[in-house]
Amino acid sequence: MIKAGLGFNREMKICITHMHGDHILGLPGLIQTMSLLCRTRTLEIYGPAGLGDFIEAIEKTIKFTLTFRLEVIEIEDEGLVCAEDEYEIIAARADHVAPAFAYSLEEKSRPGKFYPEKAKALGIPEGVAWAKLQHGTTVKLPNGRVVEPQEVLGPPRSGRKISYSGDSRFSEALVKLAKNADLLIHDCTFDDGLAKRAAEDGHSIPSQVAKTAKKANVKRVILTHISARYKTPNLLLNQTRKGFINAVVAEDFMKIDLPLHDVK
Ligand SMILES: [Zn+2]
Ligand SMILES: [Zn+2]
Repeated sequence: MIKAGLGFNREMKICITHMHGDHILGLPGLIQTMSLLCRTRTLEIYGPAGLGDFIEAIEKTIKFTLTFRLEVIEIEDEGLVCAEDEYEIIAARADHVAPAFAYSLEEKSRPGKFYPEKAKALGIPEGVAWAKLQHGTTVKLPNGRVVEPQEVLGPPRSGRKISYSGDSRFSEALVKLAKNADLLIHDCTFDDGLAKRAAEDGHSIPSQVAKTAKKANVKRVILTHISARYKTPNLLLNQTRKGFINAVVAEDFMKIDLPLHDVK
């Protein structure tokens, strides 16, 4: 995060999928680093039952005073995790060997495209009134006429959506969660030849990732959680692309551009 230039004092929420070491043992170091860099904003951490005990154990045993407040929220069920002005986080149950959640980050829709010619035709003076309408606020003209934003705006533009499977076998709950996502980040631990092993360990293979991506109608997929047994991830990528072409493998410092949705 330091190398990537991500500020440590920005608004941030952490979503933990499940209580396995490879998914939570980075937290103590991350939290302490944030404190060393003098974070002041509250940090919310969401996750399954047991997360509270884990964080409490760190706070009790590590002799270190945090510069910020930690708020731990244990998720009990599927559904809305949190709602902010601009986005929501939704959880669904993943299918793993431990209780696990998958998450979606969904942006709220934005006001539609602004049509200046419509505003001019209605006699709305250029300036503050235009800006208000563009942001979806009703405007009252000097002559008393009230203009609703939809009179000068196109249909609302839907927000973007990112879904993350965490560790999971194929699951219909995940298909539902990732419906129409712009991006699905998915467990792809083993190749198709190790289907039995994947099922035993609660992980996915490429053909299952492709199946989920197709059924959920997502735009693109990033494969992650790849077993260290593979010197290169090419086999997994090729097997995924047989069923879903728009797939890549996660890399450190990877940058992904997710364009805003526009009205067709
Ligand atoms: Zn796991
Ligand atoms: Zn894992």
